[in-house]
Amino acid sequence: MQTQLADWIRTTPQGEEADAILRRCVHCGFCLATCPTYNLLGDELDSPRGRIYLMKQMLEGAPVTRRTQVHLDRCLTCRACETTCPSGVEYGKLVDIGRALVEEKVARTPGDRLRRWLLARTLPARGPFAAALALGRIAKPFLPSALARRIPARRPAGAWPARRRARRMIVLAGCVQPAIAPSINAAAARVLDRLGVTLMEVPEAGCCGAVQFHLNYQRDGLERAKANIDAWWPHVEAGVEAIVVTASGCGTIVKDYGHLLRGDAAYAAKAARISALAKDVSEVVAAERDALAARWRPADARRSIAFHSPCSLQHGLRINGVVEAILRDAGFDLTPVPDAHLCCGSAGTYSLLEPAISRRLLHDKVRALESGRPELVATANVGCLAQLAAGASLPVVHWIELVDQRMGEARGA
Ligand code: SF4
Ligand code: SF4
Repeated sequence: MQTQLADWIRTTPQGEEADAILRRCVHCGFCLATCPTYNLLGDELDSPRGRIYLMKQMLEGAPVTRRTQVHLDRCLTCRACETTCPSGVEYGKLVDIGRALVEEKVARTPGDRLRRWLLARTLPARGPFAAALALGRIAKPFLPSALARRIPARRPAGAWPARRRARRMIVLAGCVQPAIAPSINAAAARVLDRLGVTLMEVPEAGCCGAVQFHLNYQRDGLERAKANIDAWWPHVEAGVEAIVVTASGCGTIVKDYGHLLRGDAAYAAKAARISALAKDVSEVVAAERDALAARWRPADARRSIAFHSPCSLQHGLRINGVVEAILRDAGFDLTPVPDAHLCCGSAGTYSLLEPAISRRLLHDKVRALESGRPELVATANVGCLAQLAAGASLPVVHWIELVDQRMGEARGA
């Protein structure tokens, strides 16, 4: 695509990056078929190609209106379009640039500003979120069923293994995950301990920064990234093998720290090192597949599950088939899931900011997941887990919890 970026943006780092991305787009429209919002709403401006066109207009100096903001807000940032695009258009990076610029040019209503500000302040703060969730759980029996379903049940963590292994890795604790499902990181720690690795949370590290970054508090999101780098750095220098992330949504941004902080003289090199060390827990477990295989008893009864691969896992991290292979080895039969590339509607804070679209996506996703009559649903991201649990009639778990359970059953460990 030919571009003529306006003088105010052309020579800036964002302008140069956006220009390079825009020039790759050939307007073929292949991406429309896999875009959830285009599929639902049928409006070209709610498709990747339409949004790219809106951002191009803005970058070329056309007036920006609320209309552009609405269509960018409705984007889930699921990046299904990136997976489909034959020209390698990095839509996710472009929409980050586009949203930041729209935010500067188009004022939001006071109510919208307040809502976004509250989300950006409360979700990444572990204490206030945990307190709000605890109150919600107490009030749950008195709430309307639609609201009560959105409050996740308690998931006790169980015991963390002692730090007894020579091989060491860090795990990101995150922000909402410790309150919603402390069981996930504890299960990962038990699985890796059995495989000879000590997994440690670093208390000073917190939210990965994605919540703030995607709410257009991009500077705050980058500060969070820097705080995590500072917290992890002594452990990196001490030789940890990896920074493990059990929420694929968080893993996507941690693996991107190097890119996001490339212009920061004080943090660029450290951020690149952190990104190189960052691994989704599936990558770490898959690397130990031989050791893992020795733990399974072939005669164990098989259970059927539907695996929901989060957008961040399949389109962001491009990890496909890895979790599924681990689960099959562990004795699970995976039921078919139609339209597995489509988002469940969670998408960070999307389910709170665009509830109508989110509900429709959830409805379709639950129907697809349950169509193969599984006994339960597994996923790889805490946001998807909470979203699916609000709509599914089956239990929803993180896949590492299933592996932990199976290892425990196999050896009584
Ligand atoms: S598939 Fe890629 S090149 Fe084609 S319109 Fe979509 S973003 Fe542009
Ligand atoms: S990121 Fe997802 S919702 Fe946004 S344009 Fe791409 S496919 Fe559509």
